[in-house]
Amino acid sequence: MESAPSNHLKGTSMTPIHPDELLQQFASDNYAGVCPEAAAAMEAANHGHVSSYGDDPWTAKAADAFRKLFETDCEVFFVFNGTAANSLALASLCQSYHGVICCDSSHVETDECGAPEFFSNGSKLLVSQATDGKLSPQAIRELATKRQDIHYPKPRVVTITQSTETGSVYTLAELGAIAETCKSHGLCLHMDGARFANACAALQFSPAEMTWKSGVDVLCFGGTKNGMAVGEAVLFFDRKLASDFDYRCKQAGQLASKMRFLAAPWVGMLESGAWLRNAAHANRCAQYFATRVSTITGIRLAGPIEANAAFLIAPERVLTALRERGWKFYTFIGGAARFMFSWDSQFDRIDALCLDLQECAGMYSDAQS
Ligand SMILES: *Cc1c(COP(=O)(O)O)cnc(C)c1O
Repeated sequence: MESAPSNHLKGTSMTPIHPDELLQQFASDNYAGVCPEAAAAMEAANHGHVSSYGDDPWTAKAADAFRKLFETDCEVFFVFNGTAANSLALASLCQSYHGVICCDSSHVETDECGAPEFFSNGSKLLVSQATDGKLSPQAIRELATKRQDIHYPKPRVVTITQSTETGSVYTLAELGAIAETCKSHGLCLHMDGARFANACAALQFSPAEMTWKSGVDVLCFGGTKNGMAVGEAVLFFDRKLASDFDYRCKQAGQLASKMRFLAAPWVGMLESGAWLRNAAHANRCAQYFATRVSTITGIRLAGPIEANAAFLIAPERVLTALRERGWKFYTFIGGAARFMFSWDSQFDRIDALCLDLQECAGMYSDAQS
């Protein structure tokens, strides 16, 4: 019998990773791994041969699961990430001379490297300054009517994030008022739902009420931060708007040839209810963290907890000390330290973080900054 070549990987052993590098962190909800329901669906899909490029039973099942959950016959597409979902959805709503009204803290404006403009061949983001990460009807009206002349991009779409980048949630009344404003100015309404599940869990309204029943035309539904390995779904509630969207996905390198592995985890998430359970757990953890933090002197929350994010205002020295103890977090949104909670956040790990926060804050209790 011939032996395997010496460079051939043998068995399942791999070089171990140091356990400290695997400790649970709260820097982002995409630091977490894959939840059991998504993993099981992935495993279940890994049997036999099926057709490629989305012409398979898993993709059909996933699309149907979305139609059932949203109680409507929407068009459903699966892409790899949120940047692709948002940019391709916005591109499908716009001509190159159109404008997209968004908030200054929106992911499309701050974190997509110009992809919405790139994929729409130049549609311009019309940015509104907001302190709370939310667009208001007033702000939309101002941008929609600011210029009516041919020298300015023609406003065509409003994009909102639910829940927002700053951890807040649009109420149903706010969504309705935004949709009303959009309608009166001939604008489409797009929702970046990278954390849509967290908003549903927070408000306890149905996905239908949170979207098309409130006037949302297109939703990008995030799977990654909700507990999947990869993947976002794009839902068109007005099927006409989805025209040729499959070609856009293919051209943008977003058409998975083994589509069943992008689709199957959604079946597991939606059929088991894990999508909502995961989000509710993450939200609960954010609340728990906030309650603990509120007893620590010298630091405070930047705002109320509405979904799975908590933003802390703390002296720079305290944050530095916290980093030195191995904690990871970001301060790129408005300067506050962001802590995000996910489907697998552990209460004892949150306790450990709070204990370190308390000690670090205590070390500098006299400090003003
Ligand atoms: C994470 C996130 C996305 C998606 O980002 P990708 O890295 O492209 O997957 C989109 N919108 C918001 C608000 C996000 O937080």
